[in-house]
Amino acid sequence: MKKAVAISKINPVYCGDIGCYGLGTFPPFETQDTLVEMGGSIGLANGFAHVEAEKTPIAIIGDSTFFHAGIPALINAVYNKAAILVIVLDNKTTAMTGGQPTPETGIYATGEEAPVVMIENIARASGVEYVETVDPYKIRESVEVISNALKYVKNTGKVALIVMRRKCALNISSIANRRGIKKPTYEVLEDKCKACKVCYNLFSCPAIVEQKNGKALINMLCIGCGVCADICPHNAIAKVGEGDGEWLKLWW
Ligand code: SF4
Ligand code: SF4
Repeated sequence: MKKAVAISKINPVYCGDIGCYGLGTFPPFETQDTLVEMGGSIGLANGFAHVEAEKTPIAIIGDSTFFHAGIPALINAVYNKAAILVIVLDNKTTAMTGGQPTPETGIYATGEEAPVVMIENIARASGVEYVETVDPYKIRESVEVISNALKYVKNTGKVALIVMRRKCALNISSIANRRGIKKPTYEVLEDKCKACKVCYNLFSCPAIVEQKNGKALINMLCIGCGVCADICPHNAIAKVGEGDGEWLKLWW
C-alpha cells in the first residue's frame, strides 16, 4: 500500500479499524493513523474527506468488521460524495474473535451450508461505482490496483473500494497441521543474500530474522506462504521443498 501511495503522490490519512490489521499501527507499517471503533474507519475517512482537502483518506477494514459495522458508513460516504479509498482486507474469517465464518464463506459456524453474501455486491448495491478485487499475495498486481483506485478517487472525488482477498494464513497453517498436509519450505540462500534488510525490516514477516552478519534467516515460524520469495529484490529466497497438492487447495 505504501508503494502505491508513493507512486500516486498523495498525502494519505490511514483510517484503521478493529481487527488484526490494527497491528499496522506499529512500525514498520504505520498505516493506522486512527483506530477508534468497529466501522470507524469508513466513517472517519468520510469526515476527513470533507475537512482535509489536501489529504486522501484510506479506510482499512476487515471483512467481518465490514459486515458487522462498515456497511452503514459506506452508504453514508457514497451519499455524501466522499473522495475516499476503502480497502477491505478479506481473510474469510472472523480472525480476532474465534475464527467464526463470515457471511461470505457459505457456511455457518455449525458447518452447515449457508447463503453466500459477497462484499463486492454489497459495495455496488451501496452505490460504489469503482469496485476491484485483488489477491494481496500478488504484490505487483496489488500495487497497481491500489494506484489505479487512488487515481480514480483523485479524478472523480468518489468512493473506490478494493477487496483484498486471501484466506487467513494462520487458519490455513493450522488446518494443514491438523490434516497432516505438508507445507512447502523456503530458505534464504546465503550466497545471494545482500543483507539489504527488506524482508525483515520492511516486509517484517515474523518468521524472518536478522543474523549477526545482517543476512536473513527463515525460522520455524514459517508457514510456507511464499510471499517473501516475491519481495526479495535479490532473488535470495527460494522454495526448497514442495508441499502436498492439497496445500494449494486450502487457500481457495
Ligand atoms: S530481502 Fe533478500 S537480500 Fe535482502 S536481507 Fe532479505 S533475503 Fe537478504
Ligand atoms: S514463506 Fe511466508 S511465512 Fe515463510 S518466511 Fe516467507 S513470508 Fe514468512
